[in-house]
Amino acid sequence: MTMVTTTTLNEITTYLFDLDGVLTPTAEVHMRAWAKMFSEVFDEFNVAPYTDQDYFDHLDGKPRYAGVADLLAARGIALPYGDPTDTADMPTVCGLGNRKNDVFTEVLETEGVQPYPGSIALVDALIAEGKQVAVVSSSRNATAVLAAARIADRFEIVVDGLLAADRGIPGKPAPDTYLYAAQLLGASAANAAVIEDAPSGVAAGRAGNFGIVIGVDRGAGRDVLLQDGADVVVDDLVELLDGEPTGQSPASKEGS
Ligand SMILES: [Mg+2]
Repeated sequence: MTMVTTTTLNEITTYLFDLDGVLTPTAEVHMRAWAKMFSEVFDEFNVAPYTDQDYFDHLDGKPRYAGVADLLAARGIALPYGDPTDTADMPTVCGLGNRKNDVFTEVLETEGVQPYPGSIALVDALIAEGKQVAVVSSSRNATAVLAAARIADRFEIVVDGLLAADRGIPGKPAPDTYLYAAQLLGASAANAAVIEDAPSGVAAGRAGNFGIVIGVDRGAGRDVLLQDGADVVVDDLVELLDGEPTGQSPASKEGS
């Protein structure tokens, strides 16, 4: 059993939400975009077709260009790295990464994305209680995802991959983007919650000494999230609506 912080949810003024996998099921959109791009490329190069296993083995959780380089190497395809400014039609690692991003944006715009209802129920309840909420995402597409999910109006503060790069703030698992968001909202780490679905994200929460780190298990696994930094793990954020997460101990209750 994990040690749970003695901070109760009542002491938390500020909730910092990861985006992909916490507010929106965006992993599916990324998977479809990767599949479309690599299916075309592997067809051109006459190598084994792209499969979902390629996503889990080479792409999931990695920076975009690093994932492209890994999967190309696994198929024995040698392409120059290129430059992040390469256009989507260029046969380089960066060009292919940018092509995938164009597909991702196109799928988002044409099909939209439905946010997790339990997550939005929690966000709305917190806002109604007068709590502060913000989004902290590594993604450079965070603004587009929030717009596609029609939830952008709920978040005044969004610290995303673009802002972090612009300000030179290290990304997760470093705690800095979360600390920066808390600072923008005038909250101390001790009075803020970090809500994450990824091991690197809960690790960022622990490293920042946040009041509570809440893991959402979307597939990473409860034990992994607890081990890497979550104080509690839920399957759906709607579980937090009743106060303390259910099925978890020993989170302290007020007055206990
Ligand atoms: Mg995530």
